[in-house]
Order: sequence, then C-alpha cells, then structure tokens
Amino acid sequence: MYMKITIATHNQHKRDEFIALASYHKLDLALSMTPVVDEPCETGTTFIENALIKAKDTIKAVAGQYVLAEDSGLCVPSLGGRPGLYSARFAGEAANSRDNILHLQALLSDEAKTQAVPAYYYAMIVILRSPTDQQPIIQEGVMNGKVLVEPQEDIDGFGYDPIFIPDGEHKTLNQLPKQFKNAHSHRSKAFLKAIQALTKE
Ligand code: IMP
Repeated sequence: MYMKITIATHNQHKRDEFIALASYHKLDLALSMTPVVDEPCETGTTFIENALIKAKDTIKAVAGQYVLAEDSGLCVPSLGGRPGLYSARFAGEAANSRDNILHLQALLSDEAKTQAVPAYYYAMIVILRSPTDQQPIIQEGVMNGKVLVEPQEDIDGFGYDPIFIPDGEHKTLNQLPKQFKNAHSHRSKAFLKAIQALTKE
C-alpha cells in the first residue's frame, strides 16, 4: 500500500539514509522531510523518549500525514553504554562529529590496551499515525561492531562511521560501500520493521 510519511529529522545524513533505505527495501513510500520548524530539545533520558519528543513535535506541523522519528547513538559497553543517546553532543553542545570522535578516542585510550573495542549502534524508531495516536509503532535496530581507539587520518563523515568497523568486516563504515550500510545498519533494521508493522495494519 502506497503511503506518505514525514521523516522527523534535521540531520542531513539521516535524511539521505532514509531515502536510500526506502529504495533499497523497495518500499512503496512517499517520504517528505520535517518542515522548517525549530529542532526540539532532546530532553529525554532514553532513546524512546527522545524519539517520541521528535515525533510529537513534528506531527503538530504536518496535517494528515504519518510521522516517523528516530533517535540513535553509538554505545560502548566498556564505557557503560556511553555516548549512547548523547552521541551527537558527546564532546559538548556545539560539538561536531570530529570533536566527538576525538573525545571518545581520548576516553578509550586511557583504558583500552587493544586497537579497537566492542561497540554497537542503536536506533529507536517511532511512527505516529496522528497527534492523538495512543499506540505508536515502536521498533529498534542494532548493528554490532567495534570502534578504533587510535586516532585516524580521515575522520570526516557521518558521526562515528569513520571509526566503526562492523562485525565480520575489516573496513570502517565510512570505507564500506553504502549498500552495506543499507543492508545491515541499526537504522535499516528498525526502519524496515516499523514500515512492515505499519503496512500490515
Ligand atoms: P540523534 O539521534 O539526532 O540524537 O543523534 C544521533 C547521533 O548518533 C548522530 O549525530 C551520530 O553522532 C550518532 N549516530 C547514530 N547513527 C549513526 C550512524 O549511522 N552513523 C554514524 N553516527 C551515528
């Protein structure tokens, strides 16, 4: 069934990925992106709270469309799950991806004796069908791997992808073909499950 969904995100990398994912999974969707509204404050203390904050904020601005919101992050078990839902602002409110990577590697180099430590990406996706939807669709996705502890030359890209090596691979997500991420990412898994749940109704 053909559906129109607004994706609630201000992150250009996520926007590009969702468009690529709809095509990769051959989903019959018309995706539009959050209209120009202020980015909501992510005041939640869990991924699900933040995803709901984003979804509720956006659905007020788009009449009659389903809204899909996502909250995600990189979790490092040896750091108690950090940076987790604070991934985007790990090195401070104004931090960019490069700052966040360097901050993470500085923390890890204090404790890690190896070149890489286990980590995983986590995504939580919520779909609201209306502003009063009492039973949102909620799905999560995980991609396991490890993060490089040593500073890298090329650390430009989306978030922690330049230092994240998925399980079974020898290259970082930044170096692997985009199709790999479309097939295996935390976002891809959560997105597919959420759309399947919606289209089954
Ligand atoms: P938020 O969901 O907007 O709070 O931010 C998610 C943050 O987690 C991003 O800004 C990245 O730092 C990190 N992140 C989540 N998913 C990915 C990914 O697929 N690649 C790289 N970094 C990611």
